[in-house]
Amino acid sequence: AADKEKASSVAKIKVVVRKRPLNKKELAKNEEDIITIDANSLTVHETKLKVDLTEYVEKHEFFFDAVLNEEVSNDEVYRETVEPIVPIIFQRTKATCFAYGQTGSGKTFTMKPLPLKASRDILRLMHHTYRNQGFQLFVSFFEIYGGKLFDLLNDRKKLCMREDGKQQVCIVGLQEYRVSDVETIKELIEKGSATRSTGTTGANEESSRSHAILQLAIKRSVDGNESKPPRVVGKLSFIDLAGSERGADTTDNDKQTRMEGAEINKSLLALKECIRALDNDQGHIPFRGSKLTEVLRDSFVGDSRTVMISCISPNAGSCEHTLNTLRYADRVK
Ligand code: ADP
Ligand code: MG
Repeated sequence: AADKEKASSVAKIKVVVRKRPLNKKELAKNEEDIITIDANSLTVHETKLKVDLTEYVEKHEFFFDAVLNEEVSNDEVYRETVEPIVPIIFQRTKATCFAYGQTGSGKTFTMKPLPLKASRDILRLMHHTYRNQGFQLFVSFFEIYGGKLFDLLNDRKKLCMREDGKQQVCIVGLQEYRVSDVETIKELIEKGSATRSTGTTGANEESSRSHAILQLAIKRSVDGNESKPPRVVGKLSFIDLAGSERGADTTDNDKQTRMEGAEINKSLLALKECIRALDNDQGHIPFRGSKLTEVLRDSFVGDSRTVMISCISPNAGSCEHTLNTLRYADRVK
């Protein structure tokens, strides 16, 4: 009962914004930082031109569950977002943490350390609080690129998705590694991340067009019977989404880029709709909108938790993308 109470005290949906510092290039160009933060409110100072070409500043204020400024460390991000969720995935909860934002806003920087910190806490719980209770931890890592699935822990092997009779999603052939120490998990995260960014052509260019999904699954053998395959108890998914500006690549001259842009646009819209449906406790959740939401289907049904980390760049040149990101986050909340 105490566990149940603990679970219900963790918000179903949490929306957090993280601002990164100005980078060297932006500083060299003397770019202005147009974001101010005060407690959980954030203001974008947009410079606009009047008809007579004189400048004026329009302020856009937003409120979120938490707003993290450029001085906040990755440890603090973890404490604010994923740490409260870790204990409840032992209570049959599925949780998902997304990083959303334009390319270069800090999604990967924010997301990459989180699974490792979470695994450390999960293993600690397994070795202490839940000692000898048959829990096991599994890691998988794949990406969705152009609507197709690729295994990042198995040489980008192409995967397909199937739904079993119980509406559970099954990704056929996906490699799942059973892990019992942090070092192994670290190696797997490094391996998968490297596979992602060195894809086919350019590095960051390529990864900005794919969604990377790292899943930590907690399983348990049925009735302590080790000979039977263990069953999933809870799942924690970390999603480094495609660059949000890529969804706008729908007018590009290159047909491939256009198609990918349309797919990304569709998946980010479908994701927003699914999260909104979750919040309203609607019976119907519109998974079918995209590959991304179909893959995440079993993380949206039952007792689930969602954390959205919206990453923003501080420079004036990113103003339009930043406003788009904040409006998206505002709709999810
Ligand atoms: P994205 O994945 O959204 O394209 P990255 O995570 O690759 O963006 O970040 C772009 C660059 O900015 C990287 O060099 C990264 O190290 C740096 N960066 C991002 N966020 C921060 C931060 N909060 N503090 C310091 N550097 C950051
Ligand atoms: Mg990235």
